[in-house]
Amino acid sequence: MDTIVLKFGGSSVASNERLEMVAQKIIDLYDQNNNIVVIVSAQGKTTDKLISESQELSKDPSDRELDVLLSAGEQISMAKLSILLNEQGYPAVSLTGWQSGIFTNNTNQNAIIENIDTTRIENELKDKKIVVIAGFQGFNENLDITTLGRGGSDTTAIAVAAALKAKNCYIFSDVEGVYSADPNVIKSAKKIPALSYDEMLALSSEGASVLHNRSIEIGEKFNIPIITKSSFNKEAGSVISDIIEENTIKSIIKKDISRISIVGNGIIRNTNALKRIIELIEENKLQMLNLEVSETKISIDFKNTVTDEILEKFHSILL
Ligand code: ASP
Ligand code: MG
Repeated sequence: MDTIVLKFGGSSVASNERLEMVAQKIIDLYDQNNNIVVIVSAQGKTTDKLISESQELSKDPSDRELDVLLSAGEQISMAKLSILLNEQGYPAVSLTGWQSGIFTNNTNQNAIIENIDTTRIENELKDKKIVVIAGFQGFNENLDITTLGRGGSDTTAIAVAAALKAKNCYIFSDVEGVYSADPNVIKSAKKIPALSYDEMLALSSEGASVLHNRSIEIGEKFNIPIITKSSFNKEAGSVISDIIEENTIKSIIKKDISRISIVGNGIIRNTNALKRIIELIEENKLQMLNLEVSETKISIDFKNTVTDEILEKFHSILL
């Protein structure tokens, strides 16, 4: 019996009608005699809403409590989907990150999965259950809830697929797959039927938002084919897997990034300043793309646009 992991993104589970469509896809695969593990995101814009609600209460909520709050979104989805599957006569059980054995490090809001104890998941599968897992969450050494960073349900899905040695991992969302360019901008963009992990990593590090970056690295490491598909139709999606030797152009992408440059003679020897720069990057969870250092200049390219508030922090801490 094959184990198949299916992940459904926020828009795919946003309403009861959509949950019905999701349930049908699950049932089709379950009826073909597969072990089914489902990972769900929070419904619609729930995570954004929870973040802004926490900010109404405090400008700087505790990282621990924020993760308790944010993880609640996925738990609503997993329970609703399981209730619906049960109603349709299918045995489903919902599991939190902790119940699924997803152990992470201590970095709240951006935790890294360290290992997954699959005992509970496997026991449920042996009982022919459809296992519905809350994406985006795990637990740490203090038995506290952690979350994996925005978009982290993809990483849950592919990590669980790797731990279970699943046949493949489907990522269902509101887009059919990976395109030769952003189809919202370039009308002639075409869907790419197959691409390699490295190609997908290159695209997503440049801003393609189809998959959480870390999920692709896990897919590659454990060689789990990732299939991206739309939840709303039956069109073929894009398959991301090992592709050996090829020589083609797959996609073109534009990304607006920020470059911050710090200038001053002998900056390279100013260990105090270097320490502060690193602290600022960590504190503000900035993602670096590139670093250039010379005698008089440090230039850092960041993955996303850096706000003027953060620039002001660099200014006030360094000067
Ligand atoms: N709900 C979380 C987010 O919006 C995780 C996810 O959807 O992957 O970032
Ligand atoms: Mg996503």
